[in-house]
Amino acid sequence: MRDNVRFLTAMVALMLSAGCAPSGAPSGSDAGRAATGATTTTPAATVSPPPASPDAATAAGAAPKVAVILFRNVRIFDGKAEKLTDPSNVMVRGNIIERVSSVSIQTPADANVTVIDGGGRTLMPGLIDAHVHQMLIRPTPAQAIAGDVGYNNIAAGAEATDTLLRGFTTVRDVGGPTFGLKQAIDEGIIAGPRIFPSGAMITITGGHGDFRQLYELPRTIGGTLSRAEQIGGSAVADSPDEVRLRVREQLMQGASQIKLSAGGGVSSPHSPIDASTFTEAELRAAVEAAENWGTYVTVHAFTPAAIQRAIAAGVRCIEHGFLMDEATAKLIAEKGVWLSLQPLPDELRQGLPVGSVQRAKADEVWPGIARAYELAKKYKIKTAWGTDILFAPALAQQQGAILASLVRWYTPAEALVMATGTNAQLLAMSGKRNPYPGKLGVVEEGALADLLLVDGNPIADIKLVADPAKNFVVIMKDGKIYKNTLAH
Ligand SMILES: [Zn+2]
Repeated sequence: MRDNVRFLTAMVALMLSAGCAPSGAPSGSDAGRAATGATTTTPAATVSPPPASPDAATAAGAAPKVAVILFRNVRIFDGKAEKLTDPSNVMVRGNIIERVSSVSIQTPADANVTVIDGGGRTLMPGLIDAHVHQMLIRPTPAQAIAGDVGYNNIAAGAEATDTLLRGFTTVRDVGGPTFGLKQAIDEGIIAGPRIFPSGAMITITGGHGDFRQLYELPRTIGGTLSRAEQIGGSAVADSPDEVRLRVREQLMQGASQIKLSAGGGVSSPHSPIDASTFTEAELRAAVEAAENWGTYVTVHAFTPAAIQRAIAAGVRCIEHGFLMDEATAKLIAEKGVWLSLQPLPDELRQGLPVGSVQRAKADEVWPGIARAYELAKKYKIKTAWGTDILFAPALAQQQGAILASLVRWYTPAEALVMATGTNAQLLAMSGKRNPYPGKLGVVEEGALADLLLVDGNPIADIKLVADPAKNFVVIMKDGKIYKNTLAH
């Protein structure tokens, strides 16, 4: 037994030492820097040790100095106002933005100070993507379900590092087995964004997210789970009691919000687009279980019927809503429900084989994207932004470009506010289940230090966010620098 422990400890020490950088990161200088950032900042505990008593520290002869990073001469986009500030200075202590000032800031004498001369560049909050499936970007659908779980997690880890290097410091994951990935990122084992996980997407028999083959029917309640359920990708439930059970299983694993599928979807083999899936009683059971845990339910829904039923059951956020009508848009606005929209690139639709069921469904849904944005604006709906890239790693590289594509409907400043301060308000609905207590999506005193230093003014030229390798010269998450091309 003791030998086993010694062996494992030695293995871990080996893995944390030289050369064990996050794999799969893009080649080139960014990858090197990110890996360095990740390695030198891991594990988190060695960077921000718990405060020891002064006596103990003196006795040890090495008082741990708090890390302070001072950004000098930056113009701030604060995630709220649609303009940049005058030249300013921002001091980060530990993982918190401690001071924001237009006059020079005196750094504390007892700190380990790093000064970054911004040279008039833009300092902005880290970007937030409100609709991702972090485990389902790199694999094919078959690999995601039937492939080796270890491989899938390592691939997702590499994608998470890329996500962070695109300037996305937080994502809301709305379906997939991300709990392990999140833990590895939070512990500093790999570099990646903060993840607000939903865990398995909960659906009905035949609903969006039920990826079973027909030969797997019938299902017996309490019987063997399908493969997608075993790995935590989806969860099938066909009564209020079953819904409660599956919701509570996700909450037990650390879900920060719950995702249900209230209507048909494009990528699922057996769910018609027009179908409303859960009954109102089933949706209400999920809402009740989530609210008892202090958080909320969000649903996948396209049609007015599915959206309206979800709202009647107390659902607080609608994903997509692409086929909604005026009356439904009005209802969403009146009830103060969030609408989580995605300007899905047409490549996703075109990637589906012509003549397939999925392609036909996509052809029906896609024209609704523009209409949903127009209705959201018309009725001043609380609107979040996300990408929803599935099984398309090349497209995921366009995450920033997809954000920039919002200029079809919004000014660059409005789009950037949506992907920072506004998305953070949606995340805050997780209440006490928020895994990262503190303020996200803003540059202000007391907020969590997730920051990007941009070479240029993204409000004047939003295309800057489409090329993060070139234009994001510093990427900081939780007070730690993962990329800094200004350092020599
Ligand atoms: Zn999705």
